[in-house]
Amino acid sequence: MGKKVLWLGGLLLCAVAVFMVVTHQGKDVIVTENERKLPGPLAGVTVCVDPGHGGYDGGAVGRDSGELEKAINLQLGKALETALKAQGADVILTREKDIALSDPGAERKRRDLKARVDAAQGADVFLSLHMNEYPDRAQSGPQVFYTADDAQSRLLAGAIQQSMNANLAPMRPRSAHTGDYYVLREQSLPAVLIECGFLSNAEEEQKLLSADYQQLCAQSIVNGLIEYLHLANGA
Ligand SMILES: [Zn+2]
Repeated sequence: MGKKVLWLGGLLLCAVAVFMVVTHQGKDVIVTENERKLPGPLAGVTVCVDPGHGGYDGGAVGRDSGELEKAINLQLGKALETALKAQGADVILTREKDIALSDPGAERKRRDLKARVDAAQGADVFLSLHMNEYPDRAQSGPQVFYTADDAQSRLLAGAIQQSMNANLAPMRPRSAHTGDYYVLREQSLPAVLIECGFLSNAEEEQKLLSADYQQLCAQSIVNGLIEYLHLANGA
């Protein structure tokens, strides 16, 4: 009898011990949303974001609103910075204010463009942001440009173009295209110039001026960049 009681008592103690271990372990693995810091898909990636124009150089002009391209590029650049950081990227902005990147004087524009190229030192990709315009107001839709014979930039341009077409649903989807731009040509890393839409198209101009649409553009660019990294890494 005595042995049986002892045996049952021992069993009970074991059960309690196991229960305590299990519940303790359970507590240890509970991680709240705030504490969870998973590395984003862009962790370890540095992106140079270049809001085109600035200062004396206004760029294109909104046909109906008179809004300058340089201002919209900067708004989009800041939205893109936030969206990239949310995915774990480090971001270099070539400008955070309404300024040109060169002093007045000879070859001002070329020096401004060179400063944008130089700002990307140490980055992994370069994204130059612009808004298009054209005499024919029917033209619309985003279009991404890359330097000819640059395979990585072509891959990046294609991925961003596809993402923008899918998310922004333009009336007439365009394809990524080669373009001879200083900021791309002189760059030694994957580099694209993104024309987000036409400020000469009445409907698109209104969209490009809205914070919501700029947010959608930014997210489309981020998604395209993530897709590019998958493709480039053969994943
Ligand atoms: Zn421009």
